Amino acid sequence: MNFRLELEKAEGRKIMGYFCSYVPEELIHAAGFIPYRMRAVESAGTKDSSGYFSSTNCSYVKHCFDKALNGKFDFLDGLVFMNGCDHSRRMYDNWLHAGIKPDFMHFLTVPHILSGMAVDHYTGQLNKLKSSIENAFQVNITPSVLEESVSLYNKKRALLRTISEMRKHDIVPVRGSEFLKIMSATTAIPVEDSITILQDIIKNLDGRSVSSGNDIRVVFTGCGTEEVEYLELIEDCGASIVADKICLGSPYYATLVKENTDDPVSALSERYLTNLSCPRMVDDFRRRIQSIKQSIESFHADALILDKLEFCTYFSGESLLFQKEMKELGVPVIALDREFLGGNTGQIKTRVQAFCEKVNNLKAKI
Ligand code: SF4
Repeated sequence: MNFRLELEKAEGRKIMGYFCSYVPEELIHAAGFIPYRMRAVESAGTKDSSGYFSSTNCSYVKHCFDKALNGKFDFLDGLVFMNGCDHSRRMYDNWLHAGIKPDFMHFLTVPHILSGMAVDHYTGQLNKLKSSIENAFQVNITPSVLEESVSLYNKKRALLRTISEMRKHDIVPVRGSEFLKIMSATTAIPVEDSITILQDIIKNLDGRSVSSGNDIRVVFTGCGTEEVEYLELIEDCGASIVADKICLGSPYYATLVKENTDDPVSALSERYLTNLSCPRMVDDFRRRIQSIKQSIESFHADALILDKLEFCTYFSGESLLFQKEMKELGVPVIALDREFLGGNTGQIKTRVQAFCEKVNNLKAKI
């Protein structure tokens, strides 16, 4: 638990964890909780969790579960899971089986396709989550309180987008690794604090430059990317990450929730299901590749980096399709395969350095 949450806990505030991007923080916040995005960073290893998973499960869920087994999430008062992928789904089963805290756990079923019927179904699921929190904690999530939460989170998203847009300039004011740090921090503290911090950051970015003459500009995409040091390693090799498509990145602030509606739960459903998707949404590949292409163009990127954790089923397929599309477009691309917190820095460094050199040579020929 971070220092900010410790203070809030001491004052009696409750904290609700959630896995992952399709769980509306607004609903949790409106119930009086601080939403906390679950994370694998700061894990000490996978020694204890390995017995619960097969050797072909992704290391992200193993690290998360190891933290849970070792009491690292004991500060939570509640936890919301969802059917992100089969690996994370299995983590929920193991959590129940091992009898790990907290007492309140809810499994949110999120559709895997985009359609009007799917949005309606998801609205029903969100109403179930709402009732389940209301009943367990004796709270009342009224439409007006939910509207206030929606407005706060929209404000936070708009501020994050402002920072991100600054990375379109020739002079980049914030590194990709720094942006990940911001994302990580602001999904683990009260939203009210996040807004103040983000406003301060924006003021301080004016006139700042982290650009270096020879750096290539890259869009970074992948899954389970939480390690700031990993992005620092890539950037130190000469790849300036100017845009991203990772869970703790642009999809978080890509779209806002509609405000001033009669039914804020439906508005949440609409936004969360139709927002920029991750590969769990099976019929949305064209929109995702379009978004990558747009980012390459609008952020003036020279190349694409695809980051994938070993055994991540969704991103294995996505990575191959992205490589094919980039080849057709003539955009240089590198696919990195790794374990979460797996080290392997020597090999990654060599590959990224060689890639940067190749892209710089290509640029010199144009
Ligand atoms: S990295 Fe891939 S396999 Fe692991 S939890 Fe995320 S989507 Fe699932």
